[in-house]
Amino acid sequence: MSKVLVIGAGGVGSVAVHKMAMNPDIFTDIHLASRTVSKCEAIAASVKERTGIAIATYAIDADDVEATSKLIGEIGPELVVNLALPYQDLAIMDACLATGTNYLDTANYEPRDVAKFEYSWQWDYHDRFKQAGLTALLGSGFDPGVTSVFAMWLKKHKLKTIRLLDILDCNGGDHGQAFATNFNPEINIREVTAPARHWENGEFVETPAMGKKQSFEFEGVGAKNMYMMYHEELESLAKFLPEMERARFWMTFGDAYIQHLTVLQNVGMTRIDPVIYNGQEIIPLQFLKAVLPEPASLGPTTKGKTNIGDIATGEALDGSGEKTFYIKNICDHEDAYEETGNQAVSYTTGVPAMVGAAMLVTGKWKGANGEGGVFNMEQFDPDPFLAMLGEQGLPWTVEELTEPLPF
Ligand code: NDP
Repeated sequence: MSKVLVIGAGGVGSVAVHKMAMNPDIFTDIHLASRTVSKCEAIAASVKERTGIAIATYAIDADDVEATSKLIGEIGPELVVNLALPYQDLAIMDACLATGTNYLDTANYEPRDVAKFEYSWQWDYHDRFKQAGLTALLGSGFDPGVTSVFAMWLKKHKLKTIRLLDILDCNGGDHGQAFATNFNPEINIREVTAPARHWENGEFVETPAMGKKQSFEFEGVGAKNMYMMYHEELESLAKFLPEMERARFWMTFGDAYIQHLTVLQNVGMTRIDPVIYNGQEIIPLQFLKAVLPEPASLGPTTKGKTNIGDIATGEALDGSGEKTFYIKNICDHEDAYEETGNQAVSYTTGVPAMVGAAMLVTGKWKGANGEGGVFNMEQFDPDPFLAMLGEQGLPWTVEELTEPLPF
């Protein structure tokens, strides 16, 4: 029995809205707004065809707090699910505070002019959300999102403390394009070209971007090269699992992707500072985004699987000494496309966004004593979230490994 407003009609927004419509007992009234209303309408048509559910659509520039507050005020949702871009996070949080509405997103706020990947700006909203009795849930995608919930599940059911944590993100999908990113190109390329950072002995250690490479055998995919990089959940995991000695994040990239990216970087096409072109300021990375395939367009051609999970080593809960567990999900691109019309990278983000939204609107996740505030995924009980995730298309498995990772 809840009314929700989703902002952002990209691949992730499309999956979340489809999955909400497939859970009509929880999401009784779904509204979708984005900068380009025709994208909302296309999603609404697909949702209607697949589920019979009608959703309302709107055009909104979510950078405009006043206009967004007005739209939220007119619709009156219980929750705003922000699936636009990280640049809009603070504006949408402001609009939620102005209208007394709960908030959820899947990526931390990013200033446009510098790549930061940090939670500080959004954590600064905690007192305002708390005073208003509102909840903001940050990072309810797969990574960030499920990867943190996986770590908390291991901490609850298997390990008393987590000493070593590695998050392994493998996209074994092939979209048939020479070069494309599987989520928003601007954010993806910002992430990949930023220096790597990992948590070690109480501090973040910075190393050159893509400087550490490791081959790993991924179930359902095969052997892939993965690269250590920074990812925002390392910040919240380090905060909520302070006992960790080391935490790292790895992502797989094929040689062709690395080669294209290296050239683009060498010629300056990944810069995020303005350059003058024909008397006009343009940001090279934004221009590059305009010529690359839209992630949402990759669905029909992408084949293969994603495999994302956590490997954690620590003292076993049952007192049997140090143990290592691997918890993961494998998702098939073609299955994801068949169900929602989107490939698995959008699917593995949109489903957890829907599940996070369900946790909030059903009251399964709320702050201590029902208090509001700004929360990360690590702060809530992992069990109801992971139970629903498994039922909603992202089943997960956990296995004991014989030893910690050898690298
Ligand atoms: P897309 O670029 O496909 O979609 C983003 C959508 O937001 C577009 O429809 C765009 O509209 C809309 N949008 C952009 N700016 C505005 C604005 N000012 N006002 C209103 N709407 C706007 O991205 P994805 O769907 O791939 O990603 C969505 C979000 O999910 C991103 O924040 C991304 O970082 C995050 N993400 C998180 C992951 C996780 O696991 N946690 C993994 C993958 C993505 P238009 O097309 O009209 O410009």
